[in-house]
Amino acid sequence: MKFTLKDKPTVFIIFGGTGDLAWRKLVPALYNLYIDKWMPKEFAVIGNGRSKLSDDDFRETLKEGVDQFSRRGKVDNEVWNNFSKHLYFQSADIKNVSTYKDLGKRIRAFKKEWKGDVNVIFYLAVAPRFFTTIAENIAAQKLATDVAHSRIVIEKPFGHDLESARELNKLLCGMFDESQIYRIDHYLGKETVQNIMTFRFANAIMEPVWNRNYIDHVQISVSEQLGVGGRGGYYDEAGALRDMVQNHLLQLLCLVAMEPPVTFDADEVRNRKVDVLHAMRRFHAEDLSHMVVRGQYGPGWIEGDEVPGYRQEDGVNPESNTETFAALKFFIDNWRWQGVPFYVRTGKRMHQSASLVTIQFKDVPHYVFPNASNENWQQNRLVMSIQPEMSIRLQVQAKRPGLDMTINPVDMVFDYKGTYDTDTPEAYETLLLDTMVGDQTLFMRGDQVEAAWELLMPVLNAWESKQSLNFPNYSADSWGPEIAEALIARDGFHWFTLPVDKIKK
Ligand code: NAP
Repeated sequence: MKFTLKDKPTVFIIFGGTGDLAWRKLVPALYNLYIDKWMPKEFAVIGNGRSKLSDDDFRETLKEGVDQFSRRGKVDNEVWNNFSKHLYFQSADIKNVSTYKDLGKRIRAFKKEWKGDVNVIFYLAVAPRFFTTIAENIAAQKLATDVAHSRIVIEKPFGHDLESARELNKLLCGMFDESQIYRIDHYLGKETVQNIMTFRFANAIMEPVWNRNYIDHVQISVSEQLGVGGRGGYYDEAGALRDMVQNHLLQLLCLVAMEPPVTFDADEVRNRKVDVLHAMRRFHAEDLSHMVVRGQYGPGWIEGDEVPGYRQEDGVNPESNTETFAALKFFIDNWRWQGVPFYVRTGKRMHQSASLVTIQFKDVPHYVFPNASNENWQQNRLVMSIQPEMSIRLQVQAKRPGLDMTINPVDMVFDYKGTYDTDTPEAYETLLLDTMVGDQTLFMRGDQVEAAWELLMPVLNAWESKQSLNFPNYSADSWGPEIAEALIARDGFHWFTLPVDKIKK
C-alpha cells in the first residue's frame, strides 16, 4: 500500500550519484514524486561519487538534469529549492571502507533526528563490477541489518550469463534477505506494461479466449531507431540478447503468458511468472537454425541523417561479432499455450521506435459472407502498444457503410492520451516509490533472473562460439535482416507494425 510512505522517513543513498542514470532518471523521478506528494516528510538523498563536489555543486548539477529530463520540463525554482535541501553529496571512493563508515554516521544522525523507523535504501547505479564491493562493505559495516527497513537496489545488467547471475545472487543472498533485494527491470515500471496484468485479470471477457483454443500466435517486438550511441563499449560486451531479451522482452512475455495470480501479492505474482519461464521449451543445438536469428546493423540513413554502422561506432570492435538484432521463436509447454508460437524480436537502428505486444487470434471457423465481401478480411488482433504510443487496439471486422456487403477491419482503441488528463509517471517514479514502500511486485526475484538466463544460454553460447560471417546483415532504417522475416514467414505469418499514421506519441 503506497499510502503508508508518508510516515516513513527515508535515507536514499545513490552510489553513482554523479552518473548518467542518477542525472537523467533517478533524481528527476524523485523530484516528481516530491511534487506529487509521494515523498515522506522526512527524507534525505545522499549521492556518492569520487567527483569533488560540495552539496551545493551537486544540487546545481542535478537541477540541470531535472530541467532537461523531468516529464514536467524545467523546474519551478521554489519547489526545487525546497526539494534540493534534501540532497547531499558524499565525495568518496566506493572501494574505501571509510566511505561506508561515514555513511553509517550520516544514517545514524538522520535516525536520531527523525526518531522511529527509518528506511535506508542503497541504490547501486554503478558499473556491475562494483556490486560485490558495495554489498560486502554495506554488510561489513552492518548498515542493512534491519531487514524490514533497509533495501538494496541493483540496476541491470544482473549478471553477464547464468553463472555470473548465480554467483551474484549467492553473494547477495548470503548478506541480505531476498526481501531486501530489488533487482530493477525498468520496463516493469512502465504504465502500459503494468496495464497488461490489469487488462488480462480485471476483465472477465479476456480469460476465456486467452489460450491455445483462440490464439494463433503472439508477437513481442521492441524496435529502436537509435544506434548504440555513447554506450558502444558496454554494448559490445552485451548485445541484444543480454541487453533486451533476457530481461525486458522475457518479462513482457511472462505478463502475457502467466496464469492468473490468486492475489496481487509480490511473491504470488512472481511465482506465476517463474512458472512461465520454467515451462518454456529449451533450445537444442539442432533448433537454433530455425528458431533464432541474429543481426548487426550496417551504415545507412535515418530520417535524412547519415548514420554509422555498428562496427564504426565509438567503443565498438571494428570486427565485432555482437548482435544488435535478435529474433526468437519460443514455445511454452503447458496446457494454456501448447503449440502457440511466441515470436520475439528486438533491434537497434530499425525503421521505427515502437514496443508492441500483438495477440493474433484464430480465424472464424466458417465464412458466411459472400466471397467478394471478404477481400480485406483480417483475423482479430489485439495490439498492446507500450511506447511511444500508449494504447490497446482490438482489431475487429465491421461492415462498411453502403448498400453492398463489404467487410473491413477496424480498430476499437483505448489510448491513454485520449482517455486520461493526468500525466503518466515515468517508470522510475513507480519503481522508486515501490522501493521506498517495500513492494517487490515489479522487481525481479533471484530465481526469475536465473531462469531467464538459463533459457537463453544455449543461444548465447552458440552465438559467441561462432563468428557470424554475414555481419553487418541489415541496414539502418530497415526492419532487421531478411532471415528474420523468414523465421516467421515459414509459419505463414509476418511481423506486425503500427502504421505510422496511427502512432500518437
Ligand atoms: P556512468 O554515467 O558511467 O556513472 C558511473 C558512476 O559511477 C559515476 O557516478 C561515478 O562517479 C561512479 N564511480 C565510478 N567509479 C567509482 C568509484 N571508484 N567510487 C565511487 N564512485 C565511482 O554510469 P550510468 O550510465 O549512470 O550507469 C550506472 C549503472 O546503471 C550501470 O550498471 C548501467 O548499466 C545501469 N543502467 C544505466 C542506465 C542509463 O540510462 N544510464 C539505464 C539502465 C541501467 P565519479 O565519476 O564521480 O566517481
